[in-house]
Amino acid sequence: MTHYLRMTITIFVTLIFSYQSSSCVGGKGFFPKNNWRIPIEHKALNGITEIQFNDIIDNVANFYHPIFQSKGAQLVVERLWSDGTVNAFATRKGSQWIVQMYGGLARHGEITSDGFALVLCHEIGHHLGGVPRYPGQNGWASNEGQSDYFAATKCLRRVWSGDDNQQIVSGMGIPSTLKSKCSSEWGNADDQAMCMRIGMAGLSTTRMFAVLSAGRMPAFDEADNTQVNQTVDSHPPYQCRLDTYFQGGLCTVDYSEEIGQSNPNIGTCNRASNQEVGSRRLCWYSPSSNGGGTPPPPPPTGTSPTPTVKGQTQVTSNNPNMPIPMSIDLSGVNGATSVVLEASKPNTSFSNPNGSAPDPVNSLGHVIINGTRGVYNLLPARQLPNWGRYEFRVLALDRNKRVLSNFSQPFILDLSR
Ligand SMILES: [Zn+2]
Repeated sequence: MTHYLRMTITIFVTLIFSYQSSSCVGGKGFFPKNNWRIPIEHKALNGITEIQFNDIIDNVANFYHPIFQSKGAQLVVERLWSDGTVNAFATRKGSQWIVQMYGGLARHGEITSDGFALVLCHEIGHHLGGVPRYPGQNGWASNEGQSDYFAATKCLRRVWSGDDNQQIVSGMGIPSTLKSKCSSEWGNADDQAMCMRIGMAGLSTTRMFAVLSAGRMPAFDEADNTQVNQTVDSHPPYQCRLDTYFQGGLCTVDYSEEIGQSNPNIGTCNRASNQEVGSRRLCWYSPSSNGGGTPPPPPPTGTSPTPTVKGQTQVTSNNPNMPIPMSIDLSGVNGATSVVLEASKPNTSFSNPNGSAPDPVNSLGHVIINGTRGVYNLLPARQLPNWGRYEFRVLALDRNKRVLSNFSQPFILDLSR
């Protein structure tokens, strides 16, 4: 009985991670978390040069400094050229709205200068892109699909608006599907070229992902036809992301019309206005979920049912090696997909009874259990630090690990000799 409750402590960390794991914000990147590195010594790779890296950042930032200022914020772009990380991040520190751009991503053989600009625009999109946003502590941030959509419909078009886009795309070898769609949606050659340029930037970043993950190459004529029932906040599959860039380039709403900060149908092409072309892709976006991406979870007002052992909410045991089979049933909570089981420190009671957050004072730790109904076999000798009286309680989480119910009344285990 000397083991500390190691398992639950480990999983406590996992819980915090899982609240953040779906994000490109607060420590996650343009790509999902990865160990890819392209150190600065790898100069032979294609990628872009340090001069291009800085020029692109200067150009995009020049357009967005005043826009951030108009929102009472300061755009801070951290230029991490010598860092080999193949990613980019967005985060906030007070009124500093930060974007971190890494040299490793810029050095990848598939990245083009336009692809790099797209990544920067995606990160800016986390700050400015409107709904749908992440839930919880990252609620300031547009979700991944939305940041992609912002990049394609607003940011790239803004920063490239003064360029000779026909000249720029003339040497690119535009795939026929991209060329024909851009030509049919846009009336004049400049806009058509802009649309193609946006699509090609998306192809650069998604090809990079395919290479890094040794996957099939994305293509404009191989749309991801998956339809989600609920908006996905985390990184969509890369073909789905390419589809977003492609369609974003086709959307004819002006780039200066800001995307709604609470209404997803403002400043966008959307199905509510019968605009399928140019709208957010259904492989990550569900228009029916609140019309605005991830639906807010129902307020966690209901108290969860208490775990039981053989129908009892309190048991006594004098054998720490005998498992305690706790029956948990939160299947009645709408939308629940997993359960948090929290234990108290010995001989204490939870300081926030029926709360919806872990006990900051008397928690021993907690586990997340997939599913909403079943038996959790607690082995006191392995999982509890000592003899004593323990409380256990549960609450329900949805698929995005958002809290759906308040903690139950405690189940009490009296472990005594
Ligand atoms: Zn992101």
